[in-house]
Amino acid sequence: MGQRQPAEMPCRHVVEMISDYLEGALSARERRRLEHHLDGCSHCRTYLAQTRETIRLTGRLVPSDLSPEMQREFTEIYRRWRANG
Ligand SMILES: [Zn+2]
Repeated sequence: MGQRQPAEMPCRHVVEMISDYLEGALSARERRRLEHHLDGCSHCRTYLAQTRETIRLTGRLVPSDLSPEMQREFTEIYRRWRANG
């Protein structure tokens, strides 16, 4: 069956960019690529929702909030998803 591999932007890349995305710090092109990825990737949509929730609870997401523990944690989650997929 057709499992598409989003080669241009792996999930890990999306995770790294998500705080910039939410802060409006991405260029229009990057933003479009990221949204395109989100369109086809429920994992990253879940991550985005969780990140938004974090921002809602803490008031603001600064880059240091997302690293390195959180990133490692989510990288681990993605690795598991990929292994199961
Ligand atoms: Zn993804």
